[in-house]
Amino acid sequence: MSVIITGFETHDVRFPTSLTGDGTDAMNTDCDYSSAYVTLFTSSDLVGHGMTFTIGRGNDIVCSAIKEVAARLKGKEVEELFSSMGKTWDYLCADPQLRWIGPEKGVIHIALGAVNNALWDMFARSRKKPLWKLVVDFTPEELVNATAFRYITDAITKEEALALLKEKAASKVGRESHVREVGYPAYVTSAGWLGYSDEKVARLTKEAVAAGFNHFKMKVGASRDSDLKRGKIIRSIIDDPQWLPAGHKPRDPNGPDLVGKNAGPTGSVLMIDANQVWDVPEAIEYVKSLEEIKPWFIEEPTAPDDILGHAAIRKALKPYRIGVATGEHAHNRILFKQLFQAEAIDVCQIDSCRLAGVSEVLSVLLMAAKFGVPVCPHAGGVGLCEYVIHLSLIDYISISGSMERNVLEFVDHLHEHFINPCSINGNGRYNVPSSPNEGYSIEMHKKSIERFEWPHGSYWVNEHAAEKAKCLSEH
Ligand SMILES: [Mg+2]
Repeated sequence: MSVIITGFETHDVRFPTSLTGDGTDAMNTDCDYSSAYVTLFTSSDLVGHGMTFTIGRGNDIVCSAIKEVAARLKGKEVEELFSSMGKTWDYLCADPQLRWIGPEKGVIHIALGAVNNALWDMFARSRKKPLWKLVVDFTPEELVNATAFRYITDAITKEEALALLKEKAASKVGRESHVREVGYPAYVTSAGWLGYSDEKVARLTKEAVAAGFNHFKMKVGASRDSDLKRGKIIRSIIDDPQWLPAGHKPRDPNGPDLVGKNAGPTGSVLMIDANQVWDVPEAIEYVKSLEEIKPWFIEEPTAPDDILGHAAIRKALKPYRIGVATGEHAHNRILFKQLFQAEAIDVCQIDSCRLAGVSEVLSVLLMAAKFGVPVCPHAGGVGLCEYVIHLSLIDYISISGSMERNVLEFVDHLHEHFINPCSINGNGRYNVPSSPNEGYSIEMHKKSIERFEWPHGSYWVNEHAAEKAKCLSEH
């Protein structure tokens, strides 16, 4: 009997992260990490969960947009949707009235991200596989069929994508067993938020080194002196072998996985992230002045849509051996296409739900592989780490075939709200999600949704005012 999508529900879930300064950077202050969450229901017990991430106010607007997009799936037969997820993606994008309030950008596009991810979650659950495994088991033809391909064929054709995937197909099995064994390389951002004191930065950096990490990211852009000071604190710890965990030897800074990353004597790498605060000339001058702390790259130096600006910054910083990374606010595959075509970035930082779900992410992964740019997804927030490990596994096993130069962002916030939280092994690498019932790993505990739903969840009604008063009196 065919299974039909019968309805959906959305939840505006907000966590009070602004109270602790978690997630504070030069642009995004006062963040309450939030999830615009959707569950799709069917005529059977099959369901699909998805979400997109926001930082608070406006999360209700995204939920309204999700309702508009999800309504397009009501009455559809799931196997027909799954049979060509690329076509399904085009259909979800194609409502002429909703398209007008994009197209393919802004609220309507991240809403599509939540819905498309929910559909992929349902697809994976229906096959009893975690999402990454569903996709890596696709034939090259099936993967291309699941990809959003419109508007990118000047950068990569379906035939080129097929050739690329076929070339990697023979060695997929070996990569899958290797990554299951060692995990996927990760880096930490938790130590370097702007809202933290020097002591907290030093403590968290030592903890991160002890946990096995060797790539670290710091937020910059609010004050050059403070950035240099915090950068030197972090460098003094990550470059000192005494903080390495027992049994960990320093890594060769000129080894193949680290070459070109400005690694220090223990093989530790520092990245910096400005969250879009500068104009182009200001970005160049400011980052040059941080040369001493030897960053691998500057992330989001300027406006996220400014392709030629990123290219100019990259060119100007090359003599200083500092690269350019961006992508967490790159709103669709066309923008990524132009970043690749203009040679504007050294590192591609896709976001799992700013791009409109897995189908559009696949198109960016394919282009990045063709242009030879490593993909180091954006994560953190809430739910993003749960999502992106799946995407990096797809990239490594089926598409790029390489992970040793890649690192996947990890922030240790809010994982406890998920039924299948991501996890990190003792070598600072993501474990591979392996439950047959976890889909895209994004299902939230019902009690978390009930407690943190805005504005009537029990936390917001009963606990927030007292907690806020306590924080204010402590600072
Ligand atoms: Mg960032």
